[in-house]
Amino acid sequence: MSNQKKEHHVIQECIKELKAGNLPPWKLENELLSKYGINEPENFRIAAICRQRFIEEKTGEKFKYIAISEKPYKINYLCRKDEFIWALDARDSFFKCSLCGSKVEALDQYGPLVENYIGGSENYYSYAGRIKVKGDIEKEFTNLLVYGTGLGPIGVTRGCFKINKLGGAIVRVSEYGRAARCNGYIFKSEKWRSQAIDLIKSNLPRIKVEMNKKMVEFSGNVSTVEFKRVESQGDFILYVDYTADFKNFRGHGDISKAVGYAKKEIEIRLRKAGIEYELSVIAQGYDGDLKPSPQNKRGRYASAEIRVSRTVFKRLLKVDPQKFISFVKIDRIGAQELGCQFYSGMGGEIIPAIYRAVQVNPRSPLVSSFQNIYTETENNDVVYRVELPNIEVGIASSREGLIPPGGREALRIMGVNTAREFAAAVAAQVLAGEFNLALEISRGKLYSS
Ligand SMILES: [Zn+2]
Repeated sequence: MSNQKKEHHVIQECIKELKAGNLPPWKLENELLSKYGINEPENFRIAAICRQRFIEEKTGEKFKYIAISEKPYKINYLCRKDEFIWALDARDSFFKCSLCGSKVEALDQYGPLVENYIGGSENYYSYAGRIKVKGDIEKEFTNLLVYGTGLGPIGVTRGCFKINKLGGAIVRVSEYGRAARCNGYIFKSEKWRSQAIDLIKSNLPRIKVEMNKKMVEFSGNVSTVEFKRVESQGDFILYVDYTADFKNFRGHGDISKAVGYAKKEIEIRLRKAGIEYELSVIAQGYDGDLKPSPQNKRGRYASAEIRVSRTVFKRLLKVDPQKFISFVKIDRIGAQELGCQFYSGMGGEIIPAIYRAVQVNPRSPLVSSFQNIYTETENNDVVYRVELPNIEVGIASSREGLIPPGGREALRIMGVNTAREFAAAVAAQVLAGEFNLALEISRGKLYSS
């Protein structure tokens, strides 16, 4: 058999095993080495091809932009002076130790770029299994992560496997995402401030109509306007916070533009009415723009939960349910004792890994990474839930933020068509990662040496 023919045959055999569920995807490199005698580093390339083909067969979608590089593995190099091992991408040709500047020596040691590598040359994509969701969204998503290290994607894959076996994650996702922008005023007396509030309220219906016209492109609508009074050192401060709803967009730029319009209109009317103000500004401190507050209004709410009867929990997951519940409790209280407003454990890594994979707007998923966890018993069920109050996303490549072809390809392969589906997929993957980790820790299996 020619080499090419042999390679083709091995790939077909491995895909068969993957499809039958006999071979976990992260064990392909070892399988190629032990069963087919394909040595390092060639096994890394073939393993990536197998996983890509397997995903293509499962999803019916083809990879094009997320391509496997020619040498998809890392090589270890030694700096003799520092006695330090550098792990470099095989394509890297900068052979200097960045600590001492001397030349590093190649060792005959190889490793995968990341665990479960499936492609990408700057962003290393990992396959993290598939997750079934039901509830507000009924679908099965394929998980692609740009995680960095390797263990996260395997944890997510393992968690998904268990959740799918138990029927899938139950998701709740709000219909709209929100974006907020605030106007701030300073008055020298309560009298001026009260008169200003009355004036703004009486003009709001007309101002809102004009604001909505400025958000038509992304179908935004002003949903709430909140008034907040604060006194500080003789100043009478007023925050007027505008929130708009967006179905499939992020809407951040549009609400800013609309609120800029409201600011100008209100100033004209305040002057006409003779209401004196010291300052009228865009006050983004209060709208929560990237402020880690539970009152942050950006993004959309999503949650994912799993319900398991106590007996199935014990039999299938091999953990005493009470021990599991107690572990989640001690972890959650620990975060609160630290003064954290949110739990944000594994989610703090998984969510950025999804954003890096799909390259959607926003590129910094700070508020989107806020996460709470809950566990409770209901009837005879154990309920484990993660809640993401601020998933912020525009999944359309538009004036709102260009999404490169590789990112759009990731969305296509994941099976994400709407911002709501995106939020559901994110919540379910966070649930999978957290659930798997919580099980491992309550079994006493993690970090035990
Ligand atoms: Zn060195």
